Amino acid sequence: MSQVDDNLLKKVISHAKEYGFVFPSSEIYDGLSATYDYGQYGVELKNHLKAYWWEAMVKLNPNIVGIDTAIFMHPTTWKASGHVDAFNDPLIDNKDSKKRYRADVLIEDQVAKIESKIEKEVAKAAKRFGDDFDEKQFRTTNPRVLQNQSKVENINQRLKEAIESGNLGDLKLLIEELGIADPLSGSRNWTEVRQFNLMFSTELGSLAEDSDLIYLRPETAQGIFVNFLNVQKTGRMRIPFGIAQIGKAFRNEIIARQFIFRMREFEQMEMQFFVKPGEELSWYEQWKEKRMKWHQILGLGENNYRFYDHLNLAHYANAACDIQFRFPMGFKELEGIHSRTDFDLKAHEEYSGKKLQFFDPQEEKSYVPFVIETSIGLDRLFLALLSNGYTEETLEDGSSRTVMKLPAPLAPIKAAILPLVNKDGLTEKSQSIFDVLRFDFLCQLDVKDAIGRRYRRQDAIGTPYCITVDHQTLEDETVTLRERDSMQQERVSIDQLPQILSERCSLSRLLRQL
Ligand code: ATP
Repeated sequence: MSQVDDNLLKKVISHAKEYGFVFPSSEIYDGLSATYDYGQYGVELKNHLKAYWWEAMVKLNPNIVGIDTAIFMHPTTWKASGHVDAFNDPLIDNKDSKKRYRADVLIEDQVAKIESKIEKEVAKAAKRFGDDFDEKQFRTTNPRVLQNQSKVENINQRLKEAIESGNLGDLKLLIEELGIADPLSGSRNWTEVRQFNLMFSTELGSLAEDSDLIYLRPETAQGIFVNFLNVQKTGRMRIPFGIAQIGKAFRNEIIARQFIFRMREFEQMEMQFFVKPGEELSWYEQWKEKRMKWHQILGLGENNYRFYDHLNLAHYANAACDIQFRFPMGFKELEGIHSRTDFDLKAHEEYSGKKLQFFDPQEEKSYVPFVIETSIGLDRLFLALLSNGYTEETLEDGSSRTVMKLPAPLAPIKAAILPLVNKDGLTEKSQSIFDVLRFDFLCQLDVKDAIGRRYRRQDAIGTPYCITVDHQTLEDETVTLRERDSMQQERVSIDQLPQILSERCSLSRLLRQL
């Protein structure tokens, strides 16, 4: 199977728009790049995803509490966290096309091209040798593969050194030596490489002086660190404990594309878990496992996730990995799990002059806790569900349908109530069912068009159940319940509906599996 499916991404984007999940922001003015609005179904799915995360963290763990901190923070926060000095991307402009690129990404793309040459070589040989093919031997002996492999390693090493030492001249040199051309225009006429800070800034009050410059937070984590003592004291929390937060973050991404995968305004769900120094690596392993399980329960396919260990650790981390998901663009980061040591709390102690420590009653001493962070992008999770759920099916009668196969507890609408015909009192009966269910489930009452078309509309937005009200309903108080994926119908009594829906559609069905 091909790793990258551009076509699928295009289909998901247009489906998301056509069915009210995601719209380009301020579209009547032709949109704003890398900014999106969530529509009437999108916001429901997003809220369910937040609830699944929040409840898994805060409700199921007595030692994790949640907070909600401001987007604006004291500017010194970002000095302490290192974002003012080091939250940069290396930028390069093409003088002819006037297009701007991330220098490291141009080089990484070049590496990917060489890697794909290797894969083609391997695939060709596999075809030629058939069952006798020994892939490992081929990769370690074929001269062309070895030559390309050594090229890849060499470039990666130089890229790593240039990034780590901040040597922008070397990045430019590498781009020149590799003969990298602007992917759009083919021109090799590049500017020098410059550092570009990813934080958005604005001014507080009316004065435009430096001291009034504040930032839109690039991550939610710092709101947690600066409140460490407030929460620990008022919540009488004891190590180990965690603080969770869901909120907006802003990054002036240079190349923001791939739909809601990389946006300039996005939402994060972050949890910082404070532990005793020395115990962090065992907690790191536990959180890796817990987070992977949380993802797997969504049922998007075990093989669609993998851990990816960071090769270059940030200066503050002593272990870090990503949980990657198989997006239509290939395996990409969905969540980061980082062992951040005591870097952040110590830096805030230094810059604020306040002690950010925990008094351990057993050891009778205070210490700065170490931190394990789990950080997931809500919008990326949303894209994972949408791209995995999007399914085109040809039915037995030759007709086709597009189904959004979302897990029932996350689906925007839980049930659609459909009178078979809009007469003979069936609509009134449907309304009375709707009036009972609406207190517990978001339902839709749809009377327009033929029943088949109404089923298709609900399939497209991922509604797990359609309840059809027909003439028999008026006689024996039963309805047909149609399941979205199997399209199987069962006859059930109206009285049973609340229990059936709550068993199959409630969030606790997912949470109980954790
Ligand atoms: P990337 O390498 O893809 O830029 P990152 O390593 O900078 O991501 P983190 O700083 O670890 O990302 O942020 C934690 C999570 O926030 C990521 O795993 C991702 O899901 C999400 N995230 C980060 N940047 C964006 C963005 N521009 N748009 C949407 N989600 C994002």
